[in-house]
Amino acid sequence: MNHPVIVVHYHELWLKGRNRRFFLGKLFTALRQALQGIPVARIEQPGDRFVVRLGEGASLEEVHRRIERVFGIAYYAVARPVERDMEALCRIAWEEVEPLRFATFAVRVKRSDKTFPHTTMETESAVGRYLLEKLRAQGRDVRVQLKDPELTCHIEVTPGPLLVYARKIPGAGGLPANTAGRLTCLLSGGYDSAVAAYHMMKRGAHLSFVHFYGTGARPGESSLHVASGLVRVLVPYQFRAKLYRVPFEEIQREIVRYAPEGVRLLLYRRMMLRIAEVLARRDRALALVTGDSLGQVASQTLRNLVAVEAAAEMPIFRPLIGTDKMDILATAHKIGTYDISSEPFHDCCPVFLPRTPELSARPEELTEAEAKLDVPALVAQGIRGTTLEKFAYAGGRVEAEEPKPVVPSDKQRTATA
Ligand code: ATP
Ligand code: MG
Repeated sequence: MNHPVIVVHYHELWLKGRNRRFFLGKLFTALRQALQGIPVARIEQPGDRFVVRLGEGASLEEVHRRIERVFGIAYYAVARPVERDMEALCRIAWEEVEPLRFATFAVRVKRSDKTFPHTTMETESAVGRYLLEKLRAQGRDVRVQLKDPELTCHIEVTPGPLLVYARKIPGAGGLPANTAGRLTCLLSGGYDSAVAAYHMMKRGAHLSFVHFYGTGARPGESSLHVASGLVRVLVPYQFRAKLYRVPFEEIQREIVRYAPEGVRLLLYRRMMLRIAEVLARRDRALALVTGDSLGQVASQTLRNLVAVEAAAEMPIFRPLIGTDKMDILATAHKIGTYDISSEPFHDCCPVFLPRTPELSARPEELTEAEAKLDVPALVAQGIRGTTLEKFAYAGGRVEAEEPKPVVPSDKQRTATA
């Protein structure tokens, strides 16, 4: 009965509307999925929070590691269960509060089970008085302050044992996974696009990923393993993810052969958008996501962004457009993509880079530059070469399936016909 209990608080903001039940259902599912494999006796929902009763042998460290990545949680706490007795309650509240440093405090009781014989007020003042005496006895300079105290000792009266906690652990924030619809993210091996993906997932979007790769000079130098590594870090936030891997070198060679040097990079980007769009439609995604940040590199001047975007039909979301590289890198550190993005790899883009890139392209200029290219054929060629790697996160582990072509080869098609 005395296994720790996790009290999970969610943001109130998204609870106002009629979608309350939908969001809470998704958060509940996410919590259950995230904790898969950890002994959990029950997850309850008294009032405006979740109460996760852990079972025999649950590792708290592992619980933290899992909950950390559940979007929609404002904060959570590891609570101590106490028998339903005022004296025991005071003693455990003291155990919880004693090691913490603060100058003002309050005791807050939430009573979702009215069979407990003491009222909320009685319990708050009894425990508050007890704690104050104990603190004073230690010579600590503290006082009770009901409004904005530095420390709040929370007591939850739910059916079963009482729960006590004073340490709030910040949650991942955001909206619960898979509540906002689908997006397709162009994922390079760099820092930015992985962070861009994180921001959109945090708002509840479910992302598929598209990575364009060249052939590494030597085996192992390809960027494919970097893209896979990034998806592995990101998939726990949304539980499943697809990574489309598009061979791009042949397409680049065509562009290099037929288009003016200064706009090569911009034409690469336009082809990437077109191919990503086909894959996005396959997944019923409504928009694309990129890691663009205004003015960061030559291809991301305002004019170039607009000229490149003109090739796409779908909206393009750029969550990093107004952020600094320093902030992006700090987020990459926080979410654990930094080291993977730092790995050296053979990116497809620096190949055949122009010596003097165009800084302010116009859409018509790019369309003209593409005149000698068979754009639909190149898109089809990209899709034909695409392989799909599927990832799933369960029991705290990420598993990947063997990559498969998205367009079955003729042989496979006749075999299945
Ligand atoms: P990143 O650090 O994510 O690579 P970046 O600052 O290097 O971004 P660019 O290389 O100009 O920027 O790319 C801009 C955006 O285009 C990327 O954030 C990504 O969304 C997309 N992109 C670029 N290269 C690729 C690629 N090889 N595969 C998929 N998407 C790509
Ligand atoms: Mg890049």
